[in-house]
Amino acid sequence: MFAPVTRSTLKKERKLEKQGEIWELQEYRRYKTYQFYEDSSTYHGRCPEFLQTELRLREIAQREIFLEEEIERTGVAESKLEATQEEIQNLKQEYFLAEQKNNRWRADIACGSMRRGLDLWRSHPQWYLHKTLSDDCADRGGCCGRACGCCRDRKLRPERQSGAGHCTVECGCCQQFRGFALTDEAKETMKKLYPLDPKKNFSYCLKIYRASIFGLDGDSTKSPFDLIDKPPGYEQDN
Ligand SMILES: [Zn+2]
Ligand SMILES: [Zn+2]
Ligand SMILES: [Zn+2]
Repeated sequence: MFAPVTRSTLKKERKLEKQGEIWELQEYRRYKTYQFYEDSSTYHGRCPEFLQTELRLREIAQREIFLEEEIERTGVAESKLEATQEEIQNLKQEYFLAEQKNNRWRADIACGSMRRGLDLWRSHPQWYLHKTLSDDCADRGGCCGRACGCCRDRKLRPERQSGAGHCTVECGCCQQFRGFALTDEAKETMKKLYPLDPKKNFSYCLKIYRASIFGLDGDSTKSPFDLIDKPPGYEQDN
């Protein structure tokens, strides 16, 4: 399904961008997206799925770092080594498929205003350091609540950039801070507390959606780029 491109929508977007009114531009795009999907329970389109897959990419990337460090530093018992290496192999496959899934979504994203909003916001390589997302990380007990700086500078390989971002239940630094490993059951419980599903927690999902897709914060009319910890040299594209 494609949104009809209207001349007036594009004209208004270009005018706002030219004037450097980035909050107004992104808010307008968010509103146009909302209008396009109309029904408030579905207006995110397939966005929750996209956000859930992004979360899974981060979980995988963080789990890989944890397992590789475990093998390197602490050593893994001979009896466990094979299982650990098998898990690493399986994660590679899962990461590849998850990345493909999100590339596909970006390729056929239904609403033009949403696509343009996402492209502008994600043009900044550290979009995920947006205040809303960093605060959410701290709320969930992640590294943004401490001084270690993991989310800003996670040791990711170049092919794991889609997994950049905030702590998940798989963050090794968080585990070290907690002093114990979460069981699989506890990980599921943690994830259920913060569901990226509008049917389970509409306001939480909306908050993460607005910040992740458009760079918007519910309490601010600042340019999204000014809500990143380190403001970028955002160049206007005239
Ligand atoms: Zn940390
Ligand atoms: Zn964080
Ligand atoms: Zn962490």
